[in-house]
Amino acid sequence: MDPQIQDRCKELILGDDQLKEVMKRLTDDINKGLGKKTHADAIVKCFVTYVQDLPNGTEKGKFLALDLGGTNFRVLLIELGDNHFEMKSKIFAIPQHIMLGSGEQLFDHIADCLAKFMKEEKVQKEKLPLGFTFSFPLQQLGLTRGMLERWTKGFNCSGVIGQDVVQLLKDAIARRGDIQITVCAILNDTTGTLMSCAWKNHDCKIGLIVGTGTNACYVEKQKNAELFDGQDNGSGKVLINTEWGAFGDDGQLDFVRTEYDRDIDEHSINPGKQLHEKMISGMYMGELARLVLQKLTKEGLLFNGKGSDPLFTRQRFYTKYVSEIENEPHGTYNNCRQILEELGIKHASEQDCVNVRYVCECVSRRAAHLVSAGIACLLNKMDDPTVTVGIDGSVYRYHPHFHNLMVAKISNLVNKHIKFNLMLSDDGSGRGAALVAAVASRK
Ligand code: BGC
Ligand code: MG
Repeated sequence: MDPQIQDRCKELILGDDQLKEVMKRLTDDINKGLGKKTHADAIVKCFVTYVQDLPNGTEKGKFLALDLGGTNFRVLLIELGDNHFEMKSKIFAIPQHIMLGSGEQLFDHIADCLAKFMKEEKVQKEKLPLGFTFSFPLQQLGLTRGMLERWTKGFNCSGVIGQDVVQLLKDAIARRGDIQITVCAILNDTTGTLMSCAWKNHDCKIGLIVGTGTNACYVEKQKNAELFDGQDNGSGKVLINTEWGAFGDDGQLDFVRTEYDRDIDEHSINPGKQLHEKMISGMYMGELARLVLQKLTKEGLLFNGKGSDPLFTRQRFYTKYVSEIENEPHGTYNNCRQILEELGIKHASEQDCVNVRYVCECVSRRAAHLVSAGIACLLNKMDDPTVTVGIDGSVYRYHPHFHNLMVAKISNLVNKHIKFNLMLSDDGSGRGAALVAAVASRK
């Protein structure tokens, strides 16, 4: 390994002491989010979800689900029967002008996709229960009411913040008049992920997303969730959506942030917001790697100092490149060379490939370690002897080492008497939404 490259990348490597400090700060911020007096000013909001009952396998019938806020927008039709489920789903594009347009345009588009899908599936005459996975921070006022706190990731539609997004969806459907639905639940993707794992595994008490964005939800004691004003279902527990992506927005992560993180933030559509997320999630990981590669190239430490236009173009180094480059044995650089060629770099040496891979590893490991610190923080806080973490999201799913990196790091950071297990969720944001709708309509 080139010592100069190693030296430049040092700041991307977080030691356990730093990670423990991150855990301490995150714990404090979560407690602020949960507290009645501190919630209003809290950075990590810890919203109550109002999802209380876990599915028990007896749910039956047809359910619709919408999944907005991940890599794809999807509409789903799910049929639950005795121990089986059938699912049809369709992906629809959300063009960027809609992601950055008005709320009305967005919800009209969603309603339009839903109507098309219902017609294709020949359920347009039925009034089916619908679960809406809406993967943005919501201040919930019950299972079917949620006010948008802020947009995140690639979305910034006007006129939605502070509004009840269920109402906006219903209004858009009413404007068309050709279909009918009953919205039974609005939920976060982390909640859907937890629910879809809990269906099979009753130890599942944390839902985690490491995808376009990042976030986690967990089971908290009602007495700690001071904002909970719903009814006790007898469990004494509530599900809390931490919205940990916002962690650091008040400077708590500045001690580990780098020039690359500041650059990403300054050029984002939401500067100053979601700083933890920007160090971790798939929307930013490739760009982080590119910024490092760009700097090293300009310093003459890569490619003989000769880059290319694509390498120096924002967003041009995709997050999937990081996975692909790390997805071959050390010493093999076929993927790496192919990607570099796609970027117009045909003169990479073997040593360049070693270095490019190293940069990718530093960026993805840092993300895995920050997520691990977050999970260890929740595990220690919950203090249950065994916890399964249900996980979804493109980064966790497709990065070849993310799972192993997390297992190793959480083991280092968690209190020794706690046993944990990381479980890939089976389409939490789609199937989970239908399950939540099913449980809600059971009553
Ligand atoms: C949102 C969360 C969501 C996460 C993963 C974040 O940007 O604020 O609500 O769970 O992305 O999709
Ligand atoms: Mg998703």
